[in-house]
Amino acid sequence: MKQASSPPFGKFEAKIFMTKHIFVTGGVVSSLGKGLTSASIGMLLERRGLTVRMQKLDPYINVDPGTMSPYQHGEVYVLDDGSETDLDLGHYERFTNSPLTRQSNYTTGQIYLSVIEKERRGEFLGKTVQVIPHITNEIKQCIKGIGGDGVDVVITEIGGTVGDIESQPFLEAIRQFAHEFGKENCLFIHLTLVPWLKVAGELKTKPTQHSVGQLRQIGIQPDILICRTERELPNEERAKISLFCNLPQEAVIEERDKDFSIYEVPLSLVEDGLDELCAKRLGLPSATPEIDDWRDLLHRLRNPEAEISIAVVGKYAEHKDAYKSIYEAIDHAGMANHIQIRIGRIRAEAVEREGPERVLAGYDGVLVPGGFGERGIEGKVEAIRWARERKIPFLGICLGMQCAVIEFARNVVGLDGAHSTEFDKNSQHPVIALMDEQQNIVDKGGTMRLGAQIADVKPGTTAMECYQENTISERHRHRWEFNNTYRQQLEASGLVIAATSKNDSLVEIVEVADHPWFVAVQYHPEFKSKPTCSHKLFSGFVKAAAKRISQSQFSPTA
Ligand code: GLN
Repeated sequence: MKQASSPPFGKFEAKIFMTKHIFVTGGVVSSLGKGLTSASIGMLLERRGLTVRMQKLDPYINVDPGTMSPYQHGEVYVLDDGSETDLDLGHYERFTNSPLTRQSNYTTGQIYLSVIEKERRGEFLGKTVQVIPHITNEIKQCIKGIGGDGVDVVITEIGGTVGDIESQPFLEAIRQFAHEFGKENCLFIHLTLVPWLKVAGELKTKPTQHSVGQLRQIGIQPDILICRTERELPNEERAKISLFCNLPQEAVIEERDKDFSIYEVPLSLVEDGLDELCAKRLGLPSATPEIDDWRDLLHRLRNPEAEISIAVVGKYAEHKDAYKSIYEAIDHAGMANHIQIRIGRIRAEAVEREGPERVLAGYDGVLVPGGFGERGIEGKVEAIRWARERKIPFLGICLGMQCAVIEFARNVVGLDGAHSTEFDKNSQHPVIALMDEQQNIVDKGGTMRLGAQIADVKPGTTAMECYQENTISERHRHRWEFNNTYRQQLEASGLVIAATSKNDSLVEIVEVADHPWFVAVQYHPEFKSKPTCSHKLFSGFVKAAAKRISQSQFSPTA
């Protein structure tokens, strides 16, 4: 670690400084949007010319969220290196250019696993292994590990809410970290709720005071408070919070609910001077963040030239976080094409019960996302049949691709009972089968085909039209695959194998020849879409849906 030298002037000299650390904690209630706020801070600092790294510490005992249901945890976000991580890392990747790796997300489970493995190897011989110092040291090591040479700022978000038993070792560890690393090199930001009490007609600051009180009991005095509110935070309340929570009034920042778009968050934080405050407090150079492209993006979002609707047919339609990156990627494609998109979250079981004509009528595009388990499978297959037969643009992702193959095999090729062996082990036509490499795997955590894999795209396909590249790299998370035994038979009936893995062994993209836009992929393109750079497949899909509308406006029979 380099020592601090003379004060830097201008962007690049900032790099000679030792890494600074920002810790983001949350209080009062969960779901305040700590991930989004942390990502916004990262983005603003990056756009001031700093090199930023993002990290999340999660207090649950699972080693990673890969084994949790979307009901519990929302989407599992997959990185290039194959780690299965918290969905907040999706915000980090969408807002910043910070490269994310296994070091970007640690859980209590991982921390304990590592300490216990060290204990078994005899690394603590003669000692009693304890939360303090062994667990806290391990946590500090994880924080330190992501900083270092060339990194100006590390932002570490602590999952959970202050006061939770599970968060305590993490809070103790960051307290110790600041003590050892120097208070001038560390910044504590606490996100709280200032609720509006209807009966009293007032914003209430007491929960914030209590939450800060709890932090101070642990020995952490927040430097900045970000107050989530649904109403404007008047100066009087700001002054009260400042006095009781022991910090300057300018360090009490309002973050009002955004009912239009989450992409407004960084802009409102800039207006409140949050980035300048962080820079000042950490001794980083003064600068103005370059955010014109972000303003432009919001301008496009506010001034669409057309409107379309896309149906996302999944098992967890009612859960807003289960397909988070998919919804985001659709929005990005809308921004890129100046189109406002209404997303219909459709339960696959509703398609089974009521039929696609009732549930899907009027949608300009259909998307079937990834998933596990049999519930809703037949509804997904029906939705795909509807899109294929009516020539409605369709994008299938992972399980969505597997369902598209099942649908094609059953209804075009005539293979009755075609299925995936995930759902019917004795299927007469197992068009989707367990990958060879998966046959002998018993453990469930982190054992799928995961992370970035290379694929070759075939010329003349819709995929090639979108990507304009022969070789692509996309992120995977699956155990089952297109069964190559059926390749020729399905191709002969008009299924196009548009991309395969490097040695042609695994099918990565299928398309339907006689259809304006039908693309189904074995991987997860949604993880690589950004608001400033929409994923090419999503962009192509949305463009095709918009084209269908404009054509049907001229031709009543279309
Ligand atoms: N359940 C399927 C598999 O494991 C699809 C996985 C997914 O959609 N991510 O292959």
